[in-house]
Amino acid sequence: MFKKILVANRGEIALRIQRACRELGIKAVMVYSEADRDAKYVKLADEAVCIGPAPSPLSYLNMPAIISAAEVTDAEAIHPGYGFLSENADFAERVEKSGFTFIGPTPENIRTMGDKVSAKQAMIKAGVPCVPGSDGELPDDPALIKRIAKTIGYPVIIKASGGGGGRGMRVVHTEAALINAVQMTKAEAGAAFGNPAVYMEKYLQNPRHVEIQVLADTHKSAVYLGERDCSMQRRHQKVIEEAPAPGIPRRLIEKIGERCAAACKKIGYRGAGTFEFLYENGEFYFIEMNTRVQVEHPITELITGIDIVRTQIMIAAGEKLPFTQRQVEFKGHAIECRVNAEDPYKFIPSPGRISMWHAPGGPGVRVDTHVYNNYFVPPNYDSMIGKIIAYGDTREQAMARMRTALLETVVEGIQTNIPLHQDLMVDSKFMEGGTNIHYLEEWLTHRTPNKR
Ligand code: ADP
Repeated sequence: MFKKILVANRGEIALRIQRACRELGIKAVMVYSEADRDAKYVKLADEAVCIGPAPSPLSYLNMPAIISAAEVTDAEAIHPGYGFLSENADFAERVEKSGFTFIGPTPENIRTMGDKVSAKQAMIKAGVPCVPGSDGELPDDPALIKRIAKTIGYPVIIKASGGGGGRGMRVVHTEAALINAVQMTKAEAGAAFGNPAVYMEKYLQNPRHVEIQVLADTHKSAVYLGERDCSMQRRHQKVIEEAPAPGIPRRLIEKIGERCAAACKKIGYRGAGTFEFLYENGEFYFIEMNTRVQVEHPITELITGIDIVRTQIMIAAGEKLPFTQRQVEFKGHAIECRVNAEDPYKFIPSPGRISMWHAPGGPGVRVDTHVYNNYFVPPNYDSMIGKIIAYGDTREQAMARMRTALLETVVEGIQTNIPLHQDLMVDSKFMEGGTNIHYLEEWLTHRTPNKR
């Protein structure tokens, strides 16, 4: 096992990884930007290295600074967390070339999955069902493009091969609008992602977002840890996640989970990963794979009892998965609310000093956050300041515990989206379960103004 790991991230996930290291008896080196100097996990760190000023291109995205921090502290491995450099194949390659272990998949796997056209092709080959669409990149010939759309059937969606974060997509309803939409998406993709390649998919009208968590070791063993329903989204950003996904028959989850685990073996995947699917009318359609730990990993940890971050570290150290698929048991229900520093009605970021922080507790409540009384939320990064996770024997119990947890939480000095979560936890449709990816946005347009 490693003696020392460098954590190349910030915020709640940096603290989460630090905790996993402590549990394993591994020293954690924390890196920080000038804006994060006062973070508690930095103060409590075995070692901490400043890697640059607040803007992330100069710090958390600064590869040479991070690699030299690992060199000066004699760390053996680097955990990238999520976001920042976690899905950057060049970074993974540079980490390994510099003699460190990258706690994640091979650069080759990251590269394949980072390009949506190649990811889809790899998945089709591995037997994972995908959204019907163009076989690869769209050709230039307008007549050919029209023919592809006709075969798929309208509406279609044009997506950038190099896209991410919900950008570089355009829905097309008629042939008249097709060629113009393809050209515009291409131009935008070239400018935004440095890759003008686009592809076409059938546009699913009312799907749910259901994803499968996998873990694979370097000894040819791969398992799936069930699913997470992340359909409650605003602007393609997840707001609430839960596991299991309400109302989806177990045998369908088992079938798709087995396919995902088999695909991992086929492509030689290692570490933690997530296969994201759209789910509609009883069918799963692969949209992309995330080659890292996810924000929403705790809900899977709660229903399986498996520590995903700890397992990531063990896999990177060359250990075998300590359980087989048969030993993975699913019990109870877990829900996660992402707590963002933002206006709960207008969603404008609300950074600043937290004058009062009181975290909830009690049975089945987990809080993953790096904030504390008098913590200053810097304006430079993502607005998520933590996650409240509730577990129960049933979905109803998990939701009841979440309502209590939200009521107990006190955050003063900044605005948060906790009022939004409180409203959603008593919304009858959400309480029923199985809402689709458009539900939250539609709900927001009907939100009663007197609550403002
Ligand atoms: P990104 O990497 O930008 O997140 P994804 O491919 O994961 O892109 O798609 C993001 C979101 O866009 C999905 O969660 C879904 O809401 C929507 N979307 C993508 N592809 C389709 C499709 N074929 N049909 C309907 N919605 C889609």
